[in-house]
Amino acid sequence: MSKELSIETYGADVLRMTAEPVESVTDGLRKLADDMVLTMHRANGVGLAAQQVGHTEAVCVIDVPAEYDVEQKGGPRLNPGVKMPLVMFNPVITEASDDDTRAQEEGCLSFPGINGNVERPWRVKVRYLDRSGKEREQELVGYFARAAQHEIDHLNGRLFIDRFTYVKRLAVRGKLNRLKADTLAGRAGGE
Ligand SMILES: [Zn+2]
Repeated sequence: MSKELSIETYGADVLRMTAEPVESVTDGLRKLADDMVLTMHRANGVGLAAQQVGHTEAVCVIDVPAEYDVEQKGGPRLNPGVKMPLVMFNPVITEASDDDTRAQEEGCLSFPGINGNVERPWRVKVRYLDRSGKEREQELVGYFARAAQHEIDHLNGRLFIDRFTYVKRLAVRGKLNRLKADTLAGRAGGE
């Protein structure tokens, strides 16, 4: 039985920690991944990284709804071959389309109420261990590639606000300060 985990919000130290690669994919880690998938679904998120549930093992989960997996509304799926939810241990980006980047709005379960445009490569290749511990390499395109980059950033202690423009950072500074204060006072999240 999977259980819902509590989500760490901005201001929690763990969000700035770097995740440790796992040596092998154990039953305990598969259970953590399953709990993360449940937690992500309950929170209506499209991705979740270990630090967001207070862990530092390098694992993230992604589940992009089919209607987002398109370039334009109603268009063909960009990643029809990728089975979701995708569980990745030790994910690393091995290739990125640095000549094709796009800015799109992102949100984050650790930042309730805060959204902003982030510019990222449109395509990436990600190498990771799957649930059975097998090494895989997968090309991801579009929103799915964005979600993978966002989650891999988390595993490196990097947050999407770090990629906001200077002007956007100024615009959300008040909200961020309030969220941090709520997190430190134990008031954020967990509705
Ligand atoms: Zn996030």
